[in-house]
Amino acid sequence: MNLTTPSLLACLMLGLSYNPVFAADVANNSKAAAGSAATAIDAAKHPFLDPNQLPSWSKLTPEKLEQDALLALELSQANLDKICSVTSPDFENTISALELAVDPLETVWSRAMTLDSLSDNAEQRKVIAKLTPKVSAFFASISLNDKLWAVIKRYSQSEQAKALQGEQQRLLQLTVDSFKNNGADLPAEKKQRVAQIQARLATLSKDFQQKVKDSTNEWEYVTSDASMLEGLPEAVKAQALAEALAAKKASEKAPAWRFTQQFTSYGPVMQFAKSDELRKQMWLGRCSIGNGKYDTEKIIWEILSLRSELAKLLGYANFADFKLHDRMAGSGSKALAFIEDMHAAVRPAFLKEMTELSSYKAKKTGVVSDKLSPWELAYWSEQQRKELFDFDSEQLREYYAIDNVMQGVFGVASKLYDLRFEELPTFYKTRGDKPADAVETWHEEVKFYAVYDNKNGKLLGRFYTDWHPRQSKRGGAWMSPLDVGHNGKDGRAAKQHLAIIAGNLTKPLEGKPALLDHREVETLFHEFGHLLHVLLSDTERSSLGGTSVAWDFVELPSQILENWTWEKEAMDLYAKHYKSGELMPAALYKKMLAARNFQSANQAIRQCAVAKFDLELHIQPEKFAGRSLDEVDREVLQAYRVPLTQEQPSTMRGLNHVFAGGYSAGYYSYKWAEALDADAFGKFKQEGILNPQVGEKFRQSVLSKGNTKPAMQLFVDFMGREPDKNALLKRSGIEVPDAVSAK
Ligand SMILES: [Zn+2]
Repeated sequence: MNLTTPSLLACLMLGLSYNPVFAADVANNSKAAAGSAATAIDAAKHPFLDPNQLPSWSKLTPEKLEQDALLALELSQANLDKICSVTSPDFENTISALELAVDPLETVWSRAMTLDSLSDNAEQRKVIAKLTPKVSAFFASISLNDKLWAVIKRYSQSEQAKALQGEQQRLLQLTVDSFKNNGADLPAEKKQRVAQIQARLATLSKDFQQKVKDSTNEWEYVTSDASMLEGLPEAVKAQALAEALAAKKASEKAPAWRFTQQFTSYGPVMQFAKSDELRKQMWLGRCSIGNGKYDTEKIIWEILSLRSELAKLLGYANFADFKLHDRMAGSGSKALAFIEDMHAAVRPAFLKEMTELSSYKAKKTGVVSDKLSPWELAYWSEQQRKELFDFDSEQLREYYAIDNVMQGVFGVASKLYDLRFEELPTFYKTRGDKPADAVETWHEEVKFYAVYDNKNGKLLGRFYTDWHPRQSKRGGAWMSPLDVGHNGKDGRAAKQHLAIIAGNLTKPLEGKPALLDHREVETLFHEFGHLLHVLLSDTERSSLGGTSVAWDFVELPSQILENWTWEKEAMDLYAKHYKSGELMPAALYKKMLAARNFQSANQAIRQCAVAKFDLELHIQPEKFAGRSLDEVDREVLQAYRVPLTQEQPSTMRGLNHVFAGGYSAGYYSYKWAEALDADAFGKFKQEGILNPQVGEKFRQSVLSKGNTKPAMQLFVDFMGREPDKNALLKRSGIEVPDAVSAK
């Protein structure tokens, strides 16, 4: 198992959501799962423990989950007990054994979390809720296990341990650090408190996520007034009609349109709907997430207070310092300084953009007002952009059929890293006969692929894709590494990787393929970037592979890949008209590029605002406790916003990232990694965006290395120097102020 610090935090959050990043830390080794168990597992009786890397999803029922999770807890505990009784410790029977000890539980739980995020149902939810406290208590108990720590400590001080090299040395060092940073050296009563806090936090995060999910899913706005649809793209109207029909709120004779808080509904309405009323309703819906009967505020304050207590118990001034001590940023104050510098650099451009937007609207409507309404921002921005650049972003969709985009991302990866992708047949239980050698999936829309290294023909790994929204799926887009492999260079049999990329992208409609917008193409490339980090991982130890890197580095491989969605040379591999196959015309591409940095300061400020509030809440929660969250939000972020006609509830109310994902005190990582990616992409831009030599260098320095070296070292290995944070401002077309460039 992964015993690095992020993993223990991940373990603490296991079962809360399938976060793209912390999912990385529940990577399991299902073959080892069976192998390390005392007795062979009967896969028919225990499908969640099936040693086959590809489980039979239809057999993974809630009853089996409960039974298998309890068995996995026993098996994992037995593995730990075995380490506790070691009398002559060596690397194999301590550090290596510990990495593998929890495989049975990680196997079961990562499969359960896959179903929780992709194929949710009430009964399964109940079982997961029942198991979550047990599972998180188990993980929390590891670093508080005195006997275990005594054995590990004794080994770490031995001559053999001091002579370790390479990955073995790294794994030892991270293991010891993580024990210390999780309270292993604390007196008994404090250790007990740490365990209590971790268990309570796991439950609170699960509750938070549930409230967000329920409030998102419950909300709908149905109208039979066709005039409200004016301005909406045809695909969005068709989707809303289909939604209303499916919900039995409309019929062929009496059409109606159902809008939801799913981004494929919310986003286009806010951007395109002429009707102020429709946009206002959607905005009110957004405000209801984590609010009203699903209020998450109490949970938020309790989480913050417990996190603060935990950090202090462990010897840190605050939770942000605890979380960031082994990341690139190093401390809460350094991360905050990075965000505040970024804000200072971007603010003048942001204010200018907002003034221009206000006067544009006044000019168009003839009504002068000093404040815009929150539901007007995206709409008037889109109008202004269309006029300024003569560009309708919806025109791009016809060039972004999802299968073409997938071929495009395969093409880019193949050229850069010399890979070959192959789609394999799949079957889903309700879809009739099973074709020979087909792979079972959890839904009929799921596809399955294998990827090979052309240099030696070796299978590197396999992955599922699941791209479209449905009721049983959670929101957003993510990559989860179901099973990170290892290269076998330490003498153990090599194992290939297995992962999932999933999202809520526009569905196919009316016999047309799914036609994505540009943001969705970026999302797909982004998740694919995370996927490559896993598939190209080339490490001896699974727990050091793939996305197990420092949190503020993990978005580099994903965000850098988004750059290829803006380069014509790469787009010519996939941006073809879905009917005619013609390439995107150069004129349309030019417009798209010209409009790229429109309101880039606004975008940047929004992310800085979430990052700033996240850090402030985790650096000094006691300063704000007892007050209204919305009020504190407004106070802290005053300089990050412009006044609007109506105050918005705090975005934290619905932010799974911070309260049910791995981004607590870590939201700044997006901007941080963007600074890294803008800088690193400069090298591709200079030497050729499809240049295989630069690709190979990136693969060897970053993608294949996982967490085998500190993140800064990986970056320096690729670039030959430390990061230049002004690269991001330059890419966004924002002037770099002297004060910032001098730093
Ligand atoms: Zn990401």
